[in-house]
Amino acid sequence: MMVVGSPEQSETALLAGEVACPHCSAPLRAHGHASTRTVRGLGQERLTVRPRRARCGGCGRTQVLLPAALALRRADTVEVIGTALAAKAAGNGYRTIAAGMGRPVSTVRRWFRRAPEKHVHWLHEQAVKHAFSLNPEILADLKQWPSLLGRSLNILAGAALAFNRLARAELPPWTVIGYFTRGNLLSPPLRT
Ligand SMILES: [Zn+2]
Repeated sequence: MMVVGSPEQSETALLAGEVACPHCSAPLRAHGHASTRTVRGLGQERLTVRPRRARCGGCGRTQVLLPAALALRRADTVEVIGTALAAKAAGNGYRTIAAGMGRPVSTVRRWFRRAPEKHVHWLHEQAVKHAFSLNPEILADLKQWPSLLGRSLNILAGAALAFNRLARAELPPWTVIGYFTRGNLLSPPLRT
């Protein structure tokens, strides 16, 4: 599994032989598609995606290229889950957030259980790493945040803006954040 920015860009890069295998760095080649998935966006929005599958010309391993707007093993987009986490960081409870987003309370509670303190520390590390390489000033201008989650999301948002500026792209910020966090805005059930 590899996380890619936008499906269109990665398709072009893949066909041009510009996507490197994460194991051996040889170019990946198009190799069919993974099964179609429908995920929920904000409100009633639905996204149907058919992630590209690629095979390495060097080591022969296959990879699924997961679009960065999607979270690993989640039925909701990064934007949806991120919006819920940002609301939590702003001090809202999960019942209020679930009602506001039109999601079951149990779903929102499950998300929050997948963002324990250890994972928030990991998010903060990713945030600082990307902000530092894209524009260190993001880290200098930070206001005080009552929680590390709020601080992490704020840095990630600043880094996403800096990424779009440098890449002359207009990717949705949560998509860039999905890329920064490699699909793991929430912690996976098992970290390998
Ligand atoms: Zn390889």
